[in-house]
This record gives sequence, C-alpha cells and structure tokens, in this order.
Amino acid sequence: MTALAAFTVSWVMWMLGRQHWRQGISQAVLSAALFGVAYLFFALQSMLATVELQVASKTFISAAMAAFTVALQRFRQSTDVTRDSITVFAPLLGSLALAVMYVPQDLGTFNRLQTLITVLQTAYTLIVLLHMRFHTPGVGWTLVTGAACVQIVSILPLAFSSHRPSPGFGSEAPVGALLAMWSVCLMLFLKLMVTSTGFLIMLRDRQVALERHRAQIDPLTQLPNRAALVSDLTRALDAAASAGKPLSVMMLDIDHFKGFNDQHGHLAGDQVLRLVAQILQRQTRGNDFVARYGGEEFIIVLPDTNAQKALAMAQRVCRAIRTTQLTLASGAKLKITVSAGVHVGVPHTGASWESFVAAADAAMYDAKHSGRDRVVISTSPPGNRRGMVAA
Ligand code: GH3
Ligand code: MG
Ligand code: MG
Repeated sequence: MTALAAFTVSWVMWMLGRQHWRQGISQAVLSAALFGVAYLFFALQSMLATVELQVASKTFISAAMAAFTVALQRFRQSTDVTRDSITVFAPLLGSLALAVMYVPQDLGTFNRLQTLITVLQTAYTLIVLLHMRFHTPGVGWTLVTGAACVQIVSILPLAFSSHRPSPGFGSEAPVGALLAMWSVCLMLFLKLMVTSTGFLIMLRDRQVALERHRAQIDPLTQLPNRAALVSDLTRALDAAASAGKPLSVMMLDIDHFKGFNDQHGHLAGDQVLRLVAQILQRQTRGNDFVARYGGEEFIIVLPDTNAQKALAMAQRVCRAIRTTQLTLASGAKLKITVSAGVHVGVPHTGASWESFVAAADAAMYDAKHSGRDRVVISTSPPGNRRGMVAA
C-alpha cells in the first residue's frame, strides 16, 4: 500500500510540478518513485524472507533520500556537481560496502550501520533545509522539515526490528512484529505525503512571491514601479506622521524628452531612462525609495528629510544628470537635464500619498515653467501652490 502511495505521489508531483522541472521537481519525483521501489522490496522481503530484498530496500531508501536532498539543492538554485555526486554516491557505495562485508552472516551489524547512513543523510537534509530557512519562509518549509524529523523516527525501528528477514504476514508472524511493521509503513506513508505536499507548497509560494515581485518592478529601468511606490509612500507617510518627522517627496521629469525621442529614436530614449535610473540609485541613501512613476517621471521618497537637506539632495541629483554624458550606439555624445519638484512636510495622521505627489508634481511644473533644469521646493500644505525656486 505504501509502495502504491509512493508511486501515486510521484505521478501527482510530476503532474502538478511539471512547470518547475528545473527547480528540483524532477529529483523530487524520482525520490518518491525510489521510495516506492524501496517500500515494494520492503513488503516483498516481509513475505518472502529474502535477505537480498531487505538489502535492496534499504539501499533504495538511501537513494531516494539522496535524490530528495539534491531536489532541495536545485530548489535553492544551487548546482554543484561534485557535492551532488557525493550526496548520491557516498551513501550508495557505503550501503553496498556494508552489504558485501556483513550480509548474510551478520545482518544485525548491517542494519545498524545502514541506519547510521540514513540518519546521517537525514541530518544532512536538515542542514540543507536550515540553510534555506531565511529565503524560504512558509508552511512548505515547515512541513518538509517536520517530515525529515519523522524520517529519523521512522527509520530506527526499520533497522532494529529484525536481525534476519522477518517472516512477514504469514500466520506464524508474531503480533508485535506485525504491529511494528505496520506502524513503520504508516509513518513512511505520512512522511512521504507531508514531504511531497511541503515541497509543492514551497514551489508554489516561491512562484507567487516571484510574480508579486515582478508586478512591482519596472522592466525597463528595473526600478520599483508606481504600484510599489504607492505602498512604500503610504508606509513612509504613516511612519513620519506617528514620529512627527518631516518627509520629502521629489518628482523628477526629463526635459524635452519627446524631442529627444523624435530626434534620436525611442531605443535611445530607453537608454536615457535606464541611465537616469542608475544615477538616481547612485545618488540616494539606503532608506530613500526611488521609483519610476510614469513615462519619463521618477519619484524619490526621502524619509526624515527636512527642506534644506531635500533641496541639497535634489540639486545634487540635477547636477549629476546634467554632467553625465550619454554616448549613443551611433557614437553621438549627448547631455540631458531634468526638472525637479520637491514637497516637504510633516504629514498628519492619515495623510494621503496623492496629496504629497500632487504637491511635488505642482512644484515640478513650476520648475518647468521657470526655465527647466532646476529645482522648486514647496513647503506649503498640498493644494496651496506656492513654491520657492532654486536654480
Ligand atoms: P517637458 O520638458 O515639458 O517635460 O517636455 P517632454 O517632451 O519631456 O514632455 P512630454 O510629456 O511632451 O513627453 C514625454 C515623452 O516621454 C513622450 C513619450 O514618448 C516619452 N516616453 C514615455 N515613456 C517612454 C519610454 O518608456 N521610452 C521612451 N523612449 N520614451 C518614453
Ligand atoms: Mg512628463
Ligand atoms: Mg518631460
């Protein structure tokens, strides 16, 4: 029954995880199938009392565990052929060596040493899981780790239950031995189900996190996009309101960008957008937040920054862009400028992100109207369009 369950799990994992083939699912499918073969040999040896089947069953369990550990390594995008070969071949060669040395005359020693191999394998799997903990939060990791612990519990009776092939399900089998075997089968079945479910959850959770991340990143500049800006700015406003500290929002717009596109083409325009994004990232501090707001408009959120510091920062950014030379694919060397509007204020509780962006936008338009390539800073409440021009 456990063998059948393992083959079914292997098939279900293949069906559900096919799209993650290179992220460990192929090794996890193989692992479940190898567990199926091991359980089949285990059941057969119980009935036929054949030493070779017992040895094969334990060797296949080792192989299945090794395949699952490699699956975890693939999941964490770690490919090291030497390490993975050792993970697979060391326990297999160890098992074969033990079989040659102790089977059939000393099956007890073979069982004990083989158990040691599987305990070491499980311990290594747990180490790999612990390494993944930080990057793999969630219930999937907890299930797989819990199952690895159950694995240790379940393999101990496997080794110590008999020193010679057990008589199995026949009428002469002692009730205690049968109960022990059934409980081992049940544990192995549960372990396999929990591990497989946990691994699929890990894959799904990572896919969801990846999609969420992609939805927040602008593909052209790799900066956070408008959606990411809204959530970050809302958080920054709440933090500034509760701390009673000033928050600055800077809106930057590239000057005459339409003309640039018309003259040099949109691919050259894209190059400009990427360059501006890089300069903005270089010019900002660790807790500042840079985003691409729209076409050629960028926003920088500056937490805990008063008007004086924000003005100095905006002027530094404008200067950095003005003095950076852009070399086009054609070899032409060009310069670009931006206009910046900054709104500074201590937000009240529940202040909307729109009010800060609107005030920064209005200041930026004042900078455009007063000649471009300059900074206008506004400290008046949003809605009151008075600003101070600073070239
Ligand atoms: P101003 O100095 O007043 O800001 O003039 P402008 O030409 O920069 O302003 P306008 O709003 O008229 O033009 C913005 C241009 O930005 C128009 C649009 O084609 C261009 N643009 C928006 N997104 C992209 C993009 O992703 N790539 C490229 N190459 N151009 C873009
Ligand atoms: Mg614009
Ligand atoms: Mg523009």
